[in-house]
Amino acid sequence: MKGWKLSAPFNLIEEEIEETTSAVNLAKVKMTKALISLSDVLRYNGTIDIDRIALGSSGIGIVSETEPNLFGLEKGKHVYVEPHRECNECYNCKIGEHSKCSDVHVAGEDFDGFLTDFTVADSSKLYILPESVSDLDALFIKHISLAISIVDKLKIQKGDYVAIIGANNFGNILAQLIIYYQAVPILLTLDDEEYKIAKDSGVYYVLDKDANWTKEVSNITSGRMAKNVVYIADSNIPATKAFSLASYNAKVAYTGISQKNSPIPFTQAVRKNLEILCISSDFSNTATSINLIANKAINLSCLKIDTTTYKEVPSTFKKLSDMLESEDKIRETVVNML
Ligand SMILES: [Zn+2]
Repeated sequence: MKGWKLSAPFNLIEEEIEETTSAVNLAKVKMTKALISLSDVLRYNGTIDIDRIALGSSGIGIVSETEPNLFGLEKGKHVYVEPHRECNECYNCKIGEHSKCSDVHVAGEDFDGFLTDFTVADSSKLYILPESVSDLDALFIKHISLAISIVDKLKIQKGDYVAIIGANNFGNILAQLIIYYQAVPILLTLDDEEYKIAKDSGVYYVLDKDANWTKEVSNITSGRMAKNVVYIADSNIPATKAFSLASYNAKVAYTGISQKNSPIPFTQAVRKNLEILCISSDFSNTATSINLIANKAINLSCLKIDTTTYKEVPSTFKKLSDMLESEDKIRETVVNML
């Protein structure tokens, strides 16, 4: 097995990948597509430290070798490879409560990601993809799973207003999911392209950089302000914006795909008695995400997504890193691995 490993910031080299041997029911998967997200680029450019591992935090492929009797997981099956693994070392893992693992490991962040020719995983980490789920949809399962966690943890109900700070691909997907659950997203962005994509995706309330956000959210909610606010850390919008849109006692979720760090002045949050929740992606909602995609709850066709090839991975990272520096955003990129 080989893949693109980060040996130092800005330096990707194609290297041998060691096969994991600790899992019980192993299956080997030939990777067909992977996704490059902000998380990968922030590691590539050294913003977030990383060990010498392969990047790529989402990937799909075809089973090439399995042990017999793995519950329908046969050679040739099209699968999504779960990027999250329980740590097996924290208290909750040791008492068997893996779903409450306090240190979930993520592919491309804590262990080798999916910019590799093959990957080896425990069969419990492979999800057979229904034919109605496209490759592109499958590469965004991680985003959709995080969006489901947010809807669950905020306990969003039909008719609730939810202000979402940041309209990158993840913010857009979250807004679509909230509409699916019959609540009302108010999506806020400083980026003109994101604004247009949000409108094209069918989100009704989208506020751009020229709008007075506090006044508009007050008007939309008849003066109540938002009971639920989601602050997407990847968005580069000051966190104080989230607090200013929240009603007294509101819930504010701090989240993002990249685990990028940003400073937060809490004074306003304390004054408003806000409840702050921190929500990261995990493995609990993968099956639900696949089901939602199969039910056409999320439409990714409006999103701006680039494509590249396995060979072009180093030049693609260079391009994305330059884009991040000049425009403060990246374009998520699908890598054709074959
Ligand atoms: Zn654990």
